[in-house]
Amino acid sequence: MKRVGILGGGQLGRMLALAGLPLGLKFRFLDPNPEAPAGAVGELVVGRFDDPAVLDRFADGLDVATYEFENVPVESARRLAARVPVLPNPVALETAQDRLVEKTFFEKCGLPTAPFADVSDRDALAHAVARIGFPAVLKTRRLGYDGKGQAVVRDRAALEAAWAAMAPQPMILERFIRFDRELSIVAARGAGGQCVFYPLAENIHAGGILRESRAPAPALTEDVQEHAEARARAVMEKLDYTGVLAIEFFEHHGLLLANEFAPRVHNSGHWTIDGAFTSQFENHLRAILGLPLGPAAARCTAVMLNLIGSAPATQAILSAAPGARVHLYDKAPRPGRKIGHVTLLGASAGEAEHQAAAVRPMIEGAQ
Ligand code: AMP
Repeated sequence: MKRVGILGGGQLGRMLALAGLPLGLKFRFLDPNPEAPAGAVGELVVGRFDDPAVLDRFADGLDVATYEFENVPVESARRLAARVPVLPNPVALETAQDRLVEKTFFEKCGLPTAPFADVSDRDALAHAVARIGFPAVLKTRRLGYDGKGQAVVRDRAALEAAWAAMAPQPMILERFIRFDRELSIVAARGAGGQCVFYPLAENIHAGGILRESRAPAPALTEDVQEHAEARARAVMEKLDYTGVLAIEFFEHHGLLLANEFAPRVHNSGHWTIDGAFTSQFENHLRAILGLPLGPAAARCTAVMLNLIGSAPATQAILSAAPGARVHLYDKAPRPGRKIGHVTLLGASAGEAEHQAAAVRPMIEGAQ
């Protein structure tokens, strides 16, 4: 019986375990929160990610370790890697944690991005404005997620104010893209370099938080899918990656601009639990355990709605859409917090949307 260690005990860890228990796997999580939602499906070690004694206790008897949270300190992942295989390798974590390193890495892999500039000091800021122009987005290089640590700025005064509010953290300035839509690809790379790619999902964000994903993305051409797959492959090969990775893109005049990647399973891939032949969670586990990857094709069309802040009663959701797949994370309601998701399936995009329309108002009403 293999024992998998997961750094982070949030909903992603919980869903990894829910996919891995049928494969006969055991799970251990490390999280500072004693109420971490993954505690219900495996052993929870409560402690700090950067406490060496805690890390050693966590590592004891593991066959492999991975992460479900990308802000784990890289030094902790490296310390762990001295005792147990850590996959994906910590270089992926290090690259994704810093927006400047990440965007520079995308360029090296041949992925177009929104024009960006390092604005770590005031001189750099003046130069950056001349090149990037307005409107622009000022982002902290580190610890930004779900729209945190960023501000859209439309003129010099707004930029100055945002810069003062975020200083002294190092930042980047990025051109604001009036994208046609946001798309993401979830991909997996296994032992020996085998890769599988899920169909692109179309994502709707509000306030920087993912609200909805539709997969396969409507009006998806083979060309766009192939482009995204080639880019994901380039990124994974350059990182010598093992596991699931997601890249978020802006679709802009037919071009895919890479915004960021997540070295882990991703919210825009939650539809794969119910809507794909193999879920992203199972494929991540297969990859890190050296098992063959499963097919990533969609079995049907899916609409995934996040439950944010608080959720309607399950009774109400299922009464409105009996086919709804409800996933609750066992997290206390709090504004802006992802506490679950609901996936609606259909033989066609119209059918899935019809189901989604039946529950969307109550989900939005509960937020
Ligand atoms: P991020 O934290 O970079 O994933 O940004 C969160 C969300 O903010 C993205 O999903 C977009 O909806 C929006 N956003 C971020 N960067 C830009 C940009 N350069 N232009 C337009 N919208 C952006």
